[in-house]
Amino acid sequence: MKNIIISLSIIIMTISCSVNKKEKADLVIINGKVLTIDKENPIAEAIAIKGEKILAVGTTQKISGLIAKGSTEVIDASGRLVIPGFNDAHVHFGPLDPDYIELRYITNPSVITEKVAAQVAKTRPGQVIRGGHWVHELFADKKWPSKELVDKVSPENPVLLERADGHSVLVNSYVLKRSGITKDSRAPFGGEIQRDPVTGEPTGILKDAAMDMIKIGDATITRSPEEEKEKTWQGYLLAMKEARELGVTSIQNAGGADFEAYETLQNQGLLTSRIDIGAPLTGDTSVLLQYKEKEKKYSKDGSWIRFGYLKAFADGSIGSSTALMFEPYTDNPSTSGLAMWPYEELEKMVLTADKMGFQIGIHAIGDKANNWILNAYEKAIKVNGKRDSRHRDEHTQTLQLSDIPRFGQLGVIPSMQPTHCISDKLFYEKRVGYDRCKGTYAWRSLLNAGAQLVFGTDYQVEPLNPMEGLYAAVTRKDRLGEEGDGWFPEQKLTMEEAIKYYTLGPAYAQFMEDRKGMIKAGYLADIVITDSDLLTIPADQIMKTKIDYTIVGGKIVYNSME
Ligand SMILES: [Zn+2]
Repeated sequence: MKNIIISLSIIIMTISCSVNKKEKADLVIINGKVLTIDKENPIAEAIAIKGEKILAVGTTQKISGLIAKGSTEVIDASGRLVIPGFNDAHVHFGPLDPDYIELRYITNPSVITEKVAAQVAKTRPGQVIRGGHWVHELFADKKWPSKELVDKVSPENPVLLERADGHSVLVNSYVLKRSGITKDSRAPFGGEIQRDPVTGEPTGILKDAAMDMIKIGDATITRSPEEEKEKTWQGYLLAMKEARELGVTSIQNAGGADFEAYETLQNQGLLTSRIDIGAPLTGDTSVLLQYKEKEKKYSKDGSWIRFGYLKAFADGSIGSSTALMFEPYTDNPSTSGLAMWPYEELEKMVLTADKMGFQIGIHAIGDKANNWILNAYEKAIKVNGKRDSRHRDEHTQTLQLSDIPRFGQLGVIPSMQPTHCISDKLFYEKRVGYDRCKGTYAWRSLLNAGAQLVFGTDYQVEPLNPMEGLYAAVTRKDRLGEEGDGWFPEQKLTMEEAIKYYTLGPAYAQFMEDRKGMIKAGYLADIVITDSDLLTIPADQIMKTKIDYTIVGGKIVYNSME
């Protein structure tokens, strides 16, 4: 009894101590328009941060009481918008290559010739030349580019130029020859060698699995291993810089990446975005057991470098006409797209990985591919039992209307990229016809069906800038701001919703909604301040909006004024 009284009095003393010695903040933001994404407290003026977490959210007056003179850093937001840091749920993140030939948004294919010629001039014979992000629908003639565009200027270098979707690549004759790809070659399952309809010769375009046929083994590497390593390291630093300047405080890599490189960045205090890194989906139990070890090391309880979900591809893309559809393509009735796996194999992998407790995310673009994914996840529930698995459907682009309710029913996360909508709308109707577009990028319908929507960019297929995604989600118009109401305007979202599915949504997809994605006491202090008020500016200003501050884990990692 005596012991109990003593410990009780200690507890009482501790409580009164902490109340008396009111905890002060390390960093506060005052005079802001804080959109918290917290249902219970949607709008506030100020935030107090202690260590890596949010200490309190409230009025400027209340939060000012947590400022310790001389030790608390104060940001006066002067009325600017303050929101949770952006969390990009689907990226292909990695070191940037300063030699990569950037072909994004080009409208004249002759630019390809010019840029390759310029790069060849700086490159030794035999060295690989890489570039891409072209979209042939943006060319005046909308025709696929061919090897003739590059052959003349690159007789002695392998040239590989990816389409923006990464599902096709343009190669020169040098590559075709080294890879042994001729008129008589056959593409592997899930791939296509594009051919001249008259001569049957390869045009230089290789699609999906046919890209695995590329062999450039004897290409000369002119950099020493040390130089190569340094170049990669600089590439990581460039990528990190890009993310923090765009306010992207969390990234979820689709597929694998180099865990150790990110650990080195972290150890040196240079990791400025949290990162989840996944691995390829497999049905091989011994590999899955290795993943388990990785998952222990990069635990879901952590908040910086974490093991993510297991990724597979069900199909290709609409742009490359390789997305798997139930019916043939409207503009090319000879194909219904390509399956990357026979359904039975895909299902087997899903069942095995699900049984071992992994989260799975499968790339699905065509209506049939999406149907397959839902079938496989449904089967997993039937066979292995229902659990909080949060399996993901990466892209969720074309849906049969009858499949929409299944996302809510099965708890499958549509992990979608709003910018794909405004890039692909250029050719979607041409490819699949008006009727099949009704279930395309169906954000509003998915929400109405109770799905947990999650946004990202698919960087580097699209730019990493979240402002482009927000613009796309609220307008469904091309980047030039075309006339009218936007493409299937009934599927548009409000700006507040778009921000939510770019912050709290992705946190849910990584089982972190209890500590990330809202501006709320106890949550990780990942916060951005924008230079204009996204909630009130006209649509044509959204993509011009810049980040003024990026805060990750309570630390200011970017300040536009510095
Ligand atoms: Zn992707």
